[in-house]
Amino acid sequence: AEIPVLTIDGPSGSGKGTIAQMVAQQLGWHYLDSGAIYRVLAQAALKHQLDLSDEAAIGKLAEGLDVRFSIANDELKVMLEGEDVSLIIRSEQAGNAASKVAALPAVRAALLQRQRDFRQLPGLVTDGRDMGTVVFPDAPFKVFLTASAEERAQRRYKQLKQKGIESNLSDLIAEISERDRRDSEREVAPLRPAEGSLILDSTQLGIDAVYEQVRALLD
Ligand code: C5P
Repeated sequence: AEIPVLTIDGPSGSGKGTIAQMVAQQLGWHYLDSGAIYRVLAQAALKHQLDLSDEAAIGKLAEGLDVRFSIANDELKVMLEGEDVSLIIRSEQAGNAASKVAALPAVRAALLQRQRDFRQLPGLVTDGRDMGTVVFPDAPFKVFLTASAEERAQRRYKQLKQKGIESNLSDLIAEISERDRRDSEREVAPLRPAEGSLILDSTQLGIDAVYEQVRALLD
């Protein structure tokens, strides 16, 4: 039988990670944070002093990327080459660097099967930009979650603050808008709603209301 998948795509700060983790935990399904893979790749590229636009070198790095995910105390723990990078990959710089390497076709090709391998029983919840369009086009459940750039910047600001990372709100709005533009305008796997997805705007809906709608989709 087909292993069920729920894909949640959308721009950064739309709440997709929170919703995806809530649903995965409630259903006991696996969880794939695809953005974390691009974040870790960018981190690895910086660590090995590679140019973020060197497609051949970064494509090769993506093929051999040594990344491990685990859940500890309800938090996603991310290991790169045996080193805990859970915190460092969450900065805005890391997100920006991720969106640069994510635009390289060789990188996306190298990471495709690795992401599909997360599809295991009893099911998978995954969030990203191209989960419903490219990685799991046959997923039976697809959501596209968005929110205004201002709202998303505010949320990111609070999130970063909780993690002890200081940031500036207007810089965040500018960075988020720039990253949205890069993710939406790129040639490969641009950010857009997959056909047949439930489109939700979390600017108007609270996180609990979004969760209810996503859960209703699965019932
Ligand atoms: O979702 P998150 O903000 O962690 O993603 C970081 C970056 O990784 C995004 O800005 C995007 O460029 C890239 N990404 C992607 N495809 C995905 C997930 C993330 O291109 N499925």
